Amino acid sequence: MTDNGLVAGIDIGGTKIALGLCTAGGEIVSRRRLPTRTEIGPGHILEHVFHEIENMLCETRGELAGAGIGCAGPLDLERGLVMSPPNLPGWDGFPLASVVQKRFGVPVFLDNDANAAALGEHERGAGRGLQDMVYMTISTGIGGGIIVGGKLVRGVAGAAGEVGHLSVLPNGPECGCGALGCLETLCSGTAIARRARKRIAADGASSSLISSMVKDPSEVTAETVAHAAQRGDRLAREVWDETIYYLSIGVASIISVLAPEAIIIGGGVSSSGEQLLGPLRPQVAERVRMLPVEKIRIVRAALGEDSGLHGALALGRRVWSQEPGA
Ligand SMILES: [Zn+2]
Repeated sequence: MTDNGLVAGIDIGGTKIALGLCTAGGEIVSRRRLPTRTEIGPGHILEHVFHEIENMLCETRGELAGAGIGCAGPLDLERGLVMSPPNLPGWDGFPLASVVQKRFGVPVFLDNDANAAALGEHERGAGRGLQDMVYMTISTGIGGGIIVGGKLVRGVAGAAGEVGHLSVLPNGPECGCGALGCLETLCSGTAIARRARKRIAADGASSSLISSMVKDPSEVTAETVAHAAQRGDRLAREVWDETIYYLSIGVASIISVLAPEAIIIGGGVSSSGEQLLGPLRPQVAERVRMLPVEKIRIVRAALGEDSGLHGALALGRRVWSQEPGA
């Protein structure tokens, strides 16, 4: 293998797949985006992915040295399998790493999408130059990745960083993981929308600005709640404030354990920016008294939707620094 080759990054999410090629120095030379089309299954969509990667290699006259894949989990990292992923129906048990490895004959590095995004933010985004950081993505669910001493923390079965399953409300709503009151059940985009819908049903929709923004309460999203809260809607503000309250419990717990230099928040809900982070910071500070919390930055991810692709490329670039399968 030569270090003048290129690596491919494949970032696989529930709705889209981002692809890119980069140099050993991390410069992206080509990129593409495809819909995930879960209805046609992983084998078929990967054929499109391979075709696009081959086109990109052709255009750039590059030779592939390795590939990195960030994929919605859960994954069996030891065997390189996708395991019953809620956002990728039909992908259960799919041997993703070996299929890509066989097709290109290069080392393949697989990790879950949140770990990949954490790597992306660490290398190219809001975590650049930091030794210790925690990345959280708040979208349909809540995921995370932990970097300590400049390296991703993997834990048993690569399962470290599941910040969405921190318990923030004893006996709270049941989570998809089977536990009660996980952060994800209260603060994910799905949870924000669900709590708003529940209140609308209890309060009567006529009392809410939200009802003027959507035809039916079933159409309420976290974004609707954020917009309505910003415009002063009482119901939406209550839901939004409650979200920040529970999020502050989760973030304070992470800070107390790891004392990272930064908590970096990405995912769709983070697009509300300071509307979320502004009130979050003082509430976290209230809860963290044992360490100098003012030194810990709570910031929005810098790469937006590209965190995952940058992370997949960072995984792929391990071909030049690490043994395959790491
Ligand atoms: Zn859970």
